[in-house]
This record gives sequence, C-alpha cells and structure tokens, in this order.
Amino acid sequence: MIFDTDLKGAQARLTELLDQASCAVAFTGAGLSTECGIPDFRSPGGLWTQNKPIPFDVFVAHKAARNEAWRRKFAMEEAFASARPGRGHRALARLHGRGRLKGIITQNIDGLHQASGVPDAALIELHGNGTYATCLECGTRYELEWVKARFEASGGSAPDCPECGGPIKAATISFGQAMPETEMARADELTRQCDLFIVIGSSLVVFPAAGFPLKAKKKGARLVILNREPTDFDDMADLVVRIEIGDLLAPFAQDA
Ligand code: NAD
Repeated sequence: MIFDTDLKGAQARLTELLDQASCAVAFTGAGLSTECGIPDFRSPGGLWTQNKPIPFDVFVAHKAARNEAWRRKFAMEEAFASARPGRGHRALARLHGRGRLKGIITQNIDGLHQASGVPDAALIELHGNGTYATCLECGTRYELEWVKARFEASGGSAPDCPECGGPIKAATISFGQAMPETEMARADELTRQCDLFIVIGSSLVVFPAAGFPLKAKKKGARLVILNREPTDFDDMADLVVRIEIGDLLAPFAQDA
C-alpha cells in the first residue's frame, strides 16, 4: 500500500495508474457529494448521527415509519434539490468523456452523476435514486412534488398508491431491502472487466455494495481508495489517499 497525503504526489500517482489502466472503474459514495452540500452518513455531523435509518421491513409494516421517512426526506429535500455537481463529479464525467473511465458504480442516490453529464449507460446506481418515488406494490412512479402535496395537505401522513393502495417509497434501496438485480449484475460485470478500481468517498461498510472493491482486488485489479478517513480495506489497496476529494480530483476535470 502507498499511503499519500501530499496533493501533487497523489495526483501524479493517480494519473500514472489511469495511464497504465486499460479499464478503469470508479465506485462512489456519499463523500463525493459532501462538497455539494449533501451530508454523508458517517462523518461527524453526518445523517447517521442525527437519525438511524428506517429498515425496509419497518417502513412496509408501519404507517408511522412511513410518515417519519417522508418527514425526513422532505426535511433534506432542499439540500438535495439545490445541489449541483462538485469537482469530483465533473472530473469523473470528464474522464469518462475522454475514454479514461469505463463506468461509475455509485452508492449515491442524489442524481449528481447524471447532472454532471455521465450517460445512463456508463452509470450504475446500486442504491436507487432519491429524485422520485414508486409504489412498492404495483411499481407506479410518483414525482416527489406529488407526494409532498399530499403529505402536507394531510398534516404529515404518507400517501398510499391511488392505483392499488400500496405503500409509496422514495426509489432508493433501504437497509434490508433487496438489491436491484440488473444493477448488481451490471456492477459485477464491470468489476470483472476492470484492471483499476477507484473508490471515492465511501466508508466501505455498507454491504453488498462494498463487496465490489473486494472482488476487484481479488481478481487482480489495482485498488485505489480516496477517502479522508481510514477504511477497513486500506491495507489491501495499492494506493490510499486521504485528501479532500474535490481538491484531489479538480485537475482531472480539465481538458489535458
Ligand atoms: P458514508 O457516509 O458511510 O462514508 C462517506 C465517507 O466519505 C466517509 O468515510 C468520509 O470520511 C468520506 N468523506 C466525506 N466527505 C469527504 C470529502 N470531501 N473528501 C474525502 N472524503 C470524504 O457513505 P457511503 O459509504 O456512501 O455509505 C452510506 C450510504 O448512504 C450509501 O448507500 C450512500 O449512497 C447513502 N447516502 C447517499 C448520499 C448521497 O446520495 N449523496 C448521502 C448520504 C448517504
């Protein structure tokens, strides 16, 4: 493992690894979006310290849990709605546009990779997307404004699906909820193909998502971890960089 806290040195080493790679893949987490005003889960002051997540089975079983989930969602909505892609998002979009990055596997639900111009074909959202909602029974899609209007008009009661009466949930994957099969298969394929796997802004404690860097390393890819705090995978990585992501990746957003 090479451990780097020197900005220029880390950028040079990352450039070298990208130059040597024939198939590079990025794996992103909430740390990529903190500079955009969206808190992560596990940093001090992160969402985890304020509210424990509501597990999927509790959401489905209890109306009170659904009310609370939507209350939290709308309390955070301004931060999500006003966020714009950061330096890290722009760098990854640029690297993909230049053919230097095959794809991005993201745990994020904020839609900022799409907003930075990454095409759907190059993006895998493992934990869904929080910019809309669906009925868990019949799959009908609902926009957040639709849910919010009914939530507010009823004094904080989560609306049920007018089509089938099922519970309506943000289109994200909660703890205890089945992972999306297509996305898992696509991420698996990309991980098998890559020879460079770059983790960016993830504590790597959420499984099965965190299994992908492990898989990449085991099958012989080089593993890079860009995160300001240590992770359990640092010892097996080829490069670990503990620097602010935006500072580190900013030059990669440029044309050179
Ligand atoms: P996490 O909160 O567990 O870990 C984020 C990591 O990023 C932390 O270790 C932190 O030290 C690091 N970090 C934060 N800002 C950084 C910066 N500017 N530079 C360098 N490092 C930085 O997040 P996770 O591993 O993605 O897992 C949490 C789960 O919650 C995931 O499913 C995630 O998608 C979801 N989540 C998503 C969002 C979002 O979509 N933006 C926000 C919060 C949580």
